[in-house]
Amino acid sequence: MLNIILFGPPGAGKGTQAELLIQSFGLKHISTGDLLRNEIAAGTDLGKEASSYMDKGELVPDVVVIGMIKSKLDAHKHAKGFIFDGFPRTVEQAVALDNLLNTYNMPICGMLSLEVEKPELICRLLNRGKNSGRSDDQDKSVIENRINVYHEKTSPLIEYYKKQGKHFGIQGTGTIEDISVRIKKVMKQACFDKL
Ligand code: AMP
Repeated sequence: MLNIILFGPPGAGKGTQAELLIQSFGLKHISTGDLLRNEIAAGTDLGKEASSYMDKGELVPDVVVIGMIKSKLDAHKHAKGFIFDGFPRTVEQAVALDNLLNTYNMPICGMLSLEVEKPELICRLLNRGKNSGRSDDQDKSVIENRINVYHEKTSPLIEYYKKQGKHFGIQGTGTIEDISVRIKKVMKQACFDKL
């Protein structure tokens, strides 16, 4: 099984690149942001709880997202592998993911970290907000908060995966195609025995 984490701040291009990777490698894409937005659209209690955090650009509690990931893994036990997009976002989530994957004997093979500077992120997110319908992409103060939350709570994961020898930094600017080529090159290097 080939499991990778597409990592990076909001607006780094994780979702766009994940779509290209699932086409190339036949992996299952798990985006916690998409799963949460589905819950909101369906009007579930989980969705109602989640939106109170998402509207402000805060993280949804770990217990909620870890539960969602567990049910996705259980439902797709026979997948060729997973691309985790927007998860994990805290050290607690990363530890839970490692524990879950270890029980299935299918550890993460690489954390591919897209690197993009803050002014570019803000510009991309405001642009996306014009069409995405996502309120959290339309308000500059919410965008700033998401980037701050990334630095405070999510970026420590770089060190977490570096310690496991699984962190790979990738320049996240240029054309979508250029970035995709870089990612695939790193995947071949990091996960060659599983491709
Ligand atoms: P995203 O689509 O990945 O940009 O996520 C949108 C919002 O969903 C985030 O700003 C968080 O409020 C919430 N969210 C998504 N993934 C997670 C996660 N792994 N942990 C906590 N909150 C999350």
